[in-house]
Amino acid sequence: MTAPAATRRRAPGSAETASAKTGALERLHTELADWFSREARDLPWRAADRSPWGVLVSEVMLQQTPVVRVLPVWREWMERWPDPADLAAEPAGEAVRAWGRLGYPRRALRLHAAAAVIVAEHGGELPDTEEALRTLPGVGSYTAAAVAAFAFGRRATVVDTNIRRVHARLLGGEALPAPALTAAEQRRAAALLPEDTALSVVWNAAAMELGAVVCTARSPRCSACPVAAECAWRAAGEPPPTYTPRGQAWHGTDRQVRGAVMAVLRAAEHPVPRALFEPPVPGPPAGAAAGASGGGAVTAALGRLHSLGTGPDQLERALAGLLADGLAVEEHGRLRLP
Ligand code: SF4
Repeated sequence: MTAPAATRRRAPGSAETASAKTGALERLHTELADWFSREARDLPWRAADRSPWGVLVSEVMLQQTPVVRVLPVWREWMERWPDPADLAAEPAGEAVRAWGRLGYPRRALRLHAAAAVIVAEHGGELPDTEEALRTLPGVGSYTAAAVAAFAFGRRATVVDTNIRRVHARLLGGEALPAPALTAAEQRRAAALLPEDTALSVVWNAAAMELGAVVCTARSPRCSACPVAAECAWRAAGEPPPTYTPRGQAWHGTDRQVRGAVMAVLRAAEHPVPRALFEPPVPGPPAGAAAGASGGGAVTAALGRLHSLGTGPDQLERALAGLLADGLAVEEHGRLRLP
């Protein structure tokens, strides 16, 4: 049977279109890789002597915290715990203490748990496939893909917040990606990944870097963008976002109170009486805090907690949450790190 005219006309056109698409994609790969080789920030977890463990720690720390805040803490961790076995040999509370003010300290507990599993089940060495990495505590799809790519040079589809934003603008013509990762985004990211393994690693790192330093959430610096000529969002006239991203409220939230309580526990060398967390009137004098728990740093941290003016219900909620999450332990009316 003869094909309809429209179909006959479309067939060669489709081949040309496919070829043009491939060419455009290859151009994107090359442009972004060239830019990355010139402009990539010199970060210690990208250094030639980085360890897979160092990459895992950096990926977990960077998930919700900017590079500038992660750098000093990551360096301290690597100096103190250069291998998973070093961390696994210490109480989980030390990981939480050394987490400092990076926020979301459950990540420290998960890293400690991952270190224990790496020692117990993998001979102290990180497994080198996405599948095996995903079996570690706290290691989800994103982290497994990122560690497989950046620590072991594997071809893996890495999709973090920065990469999602770059893909949404560059290819989707949208100001922002969907509020939560969609299957369509995941498919697009997989389709964009270069076939060549080495180039795929660079592509992942470069797209992530572009999102972090050029194609930023609030004010993309399109004039400095190496792929501006191909950007669908620019071509579409820079349409505004279709929704307002939810801001991360902080002041007055339970998260703020939890953070202030954790600061007290990190500063304390000894368990802190629960009563000291409560508003100080008619509580004990500040000196009791120092005497009971290990110094002026505790008194200062308690002062910061009390200055929040937290009500008893919210304080109770924060303490209960920290105990339930395993970030604090209560014994005989005193609280300490695990
Ligand atoms: S041109 Fe602007 S919006 Fe487009 S990818 Fe580059 S920085 Fe992002």
